[in-house]
Amino acid sequence: MIHPDNWKQQLKQRLRCAEDFHPYFTLRDDEKKFFSESELHDSFAVAVTPYYLSLADPQDPRDPVRNQFMPSAKEFEIKEYESYDPLSEKQCEVAPGLIHRYRNRVLLRVTNLCAVYCRHCYRRGFQSPPYDTINGERLDKVLSFLSSNSGIDELLLSGGDPLILDDEKVLHIIDAVRSLKKKLIIRLCTRIPVVLPQRITRVLCRELKKRTPLWIVTQFNHRQEITDQSTRALSFLTDAGFPVLNQTVLLKGINDSEEELYKLFSNLVILHVKPYYLFQGDLAAGTSHFRVSLEQGLALYRRLKVSLSGITLPFYAVDLPDGGGKVLLTESSIIKKDGKWYCIKNYEGKSYYYPAEK
Ligand code: SF4
Repeated sequence: MIHPDNWKQQLKQRLRCAEDFHPYFTLRDDEKKFFSESELHDSFAVAVTPYYLSLADPQDPRDPVRNQFMPSAKEFEIKEYESYDPLSEKQCEVAPGLIHRYRNRVLLRVTNLCAVYCRHCYRRGFQSPPYDTINGERLDKVLSFLSSNSGIDELLLSGGDPLILDDEKVLHIIDAVRSLKKKLIIRLCTRIPVVLPQRITRVLCRELKKRTPLWIVTQFNHRQEITDQSTRALSFLTDAGFPVLNQTVLLKGINDSEEELYKLFSNLVILHVKPYYLFQGDLAAGTSHFRVSLEQGLALYRRLKVSLSGITLPFYAVDLPDGGGKVLLTESSIIKKDGKWYCIKNYEGKSYYYPAEK
């Protein structure tokens, strides 16, 4: 028997294989095929918390929550332009797990563990076993980089999901970097408010509050994910004074309609969460079934710009392949459509290519 508020029990009792899912869902053929053939492929881990599973309608095989956690054999289809490191993070790694792409900020992957393995994840290439979490030696290397690079004024704590770690570990990492730079802006990037909201406790928020400036960045992709529990988790965070930003991934068959995104963003603003980015799908291996074409994404965003207010409308953006970095997507940022490719200029004026097909 799981106590619904016990996050550690939720983690322990995650569902991971076809047998775990059978009591809840009749598996579709593509889902069955994933489980029967996963060992033949370089497949991405499966795990879902009982809480997140409970948000899916078991009678609806196309449920938008189910499709984010339930694997499909479509993941075995790898397009020639897809990659296990679509943002070329490895190229920008200056210490283990520390990515330095932009002049004044770094991203630190503190673990490769997540509470739920989202099927659309672009970091899937880093999140296979062996599972690991930053240790003292790696943290020392991060601190050494920060102390010799005075221009860094922002650190993104990412993963995996940093909040899968217990309070002591998370606070230790924050304290270590904070001891070097008192005014370092920390962005805590986590999907925990969506998939395991019980993890956001008043105790955690009280401790984090002693370690500001700290911003929370989360990922709600569908309004079905806004529940009493996630609302409570968000209120703990906002009551403690943290700005909360949301990054939604544009996902085919899940949220690629004006109506769905309008409702999602409006509901988030009511909860004091700022819709920050709407991301065009990255070119991660085995995720083409989730990608909306750039043409459709631009048309959808044009309509959202008319219907949503300034505080409700996020930026529409893409992380360019081959390490081009993040760019805002507008009709004018796409300089030409060359056969099967869009050519997009990055922040340095360099050209990068994104496929016209999904
Ligand atoms: S929580 Fe984030 S890092 Fe983990 S699988 Fe989901 S999208 Fe990827």
